[in-house]
Amino acid sequence: MADNEALLSVEELKVYFRSEDEVARAVDGVSFKVGREETVCLVGESGCGKTVTALSVMGLVPIPPGEIAGGRILFNDQNLLVFNDNEMQAIRGNQIAMVFQEPLTSLNPVFTIGDQIGEAIQVHQTAPPTEVIQRSEQLLKDVGIADPAQRLKDYPHQLSGGQRQRVMIAMALACDPKLIIADEPTTALDVTVQAQILRLLERIQKERSMSVLYITHDLGVVSKVADRICVMYAGIIAEQGKKDAVLKTPKHPYTQALLASLPNRDKRGQRLYSIPGTVPNPAYKPRGCPFHPRCQYAIQTCCEQFPEMCHYGDAHMARCPVIFDDGREN
Ligand code: SF4
Repeated sequence: MADNEALLSVEELKVYFRSEDEVARAVDGVSFKVGREETVCLVGESGCGKTVTALSVMGLVPIPPGEIAGGRILFNDQNLLVFNDNEMQAIRGNQIAMVFQEPLTSLNPVFTIGDQIGEAIQVHQTAPPTEVIQRSEQLLKDVGIADPAQRLKDYPHQLSGGQRQRVMIAMALACDPKLIIADEPTTALDVTVQAQILRLLERIQKERSMSVLYITHDLGVVSKVADRICVMYAGIIAEQGKKDAVLKTPKHPYTQALLASLPNRDKRGQRLYSIPGTVPNPAYKPRGCPFHPRCQYAIQTCCEQFPEMCHYGDAHMARCPVIFDDGREN
């Protein structure tokens, strides 16, 4: 992707959290792009830094204890990290919107759905009450909610989990954003509803020519929705590339291990592979390659030197020179 085709370009982003006696390097030099109308998945285990990356794009990292320790976040070629609160407020919701994991905790239980969608519309635009109601109904229709006039009068607890997530998507769409960040949008839903929500997001993305950045630990979701994938581990990007390249010819041992731990028909009756060890504490990351304590290919250099990014063509890259050097095939 040429630079001018990127809607969002995160460059060497570093986000640290300081306490009295330690510094947690939650995001530690992350770079990736999201093109116009593209779907990019940031994937990794809990604690790998993917949600902090998303919150940084939204300008929602609590500072302090958080600190943007370096990098740039370019949106439409403007660096969001130099924006003040008012400027960021104008971008948030209006041009970049976020759909969170658990709608029941994101929706306010004491206000009706109509109040909350109406507020999302009026944060950035002034409109007479009748128009706000009409637009709220239309948004609920757009996200596939039946009887929208009635649903606007409901409270969040009166809706199902799938309906609540549709309401969250309607609120995200209220100001017609160019980019939606969906943080584990289907994790709290059962499998059939998950598929419906993914199809809904895909349809809306096409209709509105939006870009979507998914934050997920679920490679099943990734395989359905991604154009490109960024695999995060311990605050860095371990591997990124087009979906087929990353899923079919993964280069980084962590990506290979993640894929090996997925259940599939061929492994029926077999014990599933699990990656040994745990994700390191961001305040106490190992020296060298952060994956080395868990990596079956680790050599002495991996314990001493931070690995460089190796390029495989067509924007497919992995931060593992050991695999790159010996030409090991997957
Ligand atoms: Fe494994 Fe070394 Fe590659 Fe890190 S650099 S992924 S430890 S082989």
